[in-house]
Amino acid sequence: MKFYSKKAIFLDRDGVINDPKNNYYVWKIEDFIFNEHIFKTLREYIQAGYILIIISNQGGIAKNIYKKLDTEKLHNYMNYEFRKRGIFISEIYYCPHHQEFTKCICRKPDSLLLEKAIARFNINPEKSFFIGDSKRDIMAAEKVGVKGFLIKKNEKLPKII
Ligand SMILES: [Mg+2]
Ligand SMILES: [Zn+2]
Repeated sequence: MKFYSKKAIFLDRDGVINDPKNNYYVWKIEDFIFNEHIFKTLREYIQAGYILIIISNQGGIAKNIYKKLDTEKLHNYMNYEFRKRGIFISEIYYCPHHQEFTKCICRKPDSLLLEKAIARFNINPEKSFFIGDSKRDIMAAEKVGVKGFLIKKNEKLPKII
């Protein structure tokens, strides 16, 4: 018997955590611009007992625009900046595929990455939320019973508590 006890806030990356500006594919550290308004709200989520998990499509890897290693380096930087501000991200899951090349079930609007996170961290989907700026974020969330919050690109994060 497994107890799905934790509650989580799932976050899309580009357009939620960072402002992608006109770069559709963000992989350089100098192109990664945090949306400054997220930090306070993310700390509030943590204080309210949520764990934070990022779920991101990174189809630029399949398109050979950048490598997995670039994404990992960027995420190390992102985590470092988060930690300086008292924010701990439990995991960052990303899909490196793109439908032009590979069929997969991890790219949003599919939900494999959410399912992985739910299983690994014993997350109760009914107590959890997904914040994304794209309909496919919300579609992925709803497939696993997680409530989606659709925000505008770089908009302030919702007050969930
Ligand atoms: Mg996005
Ligand atoms: Zn995938």
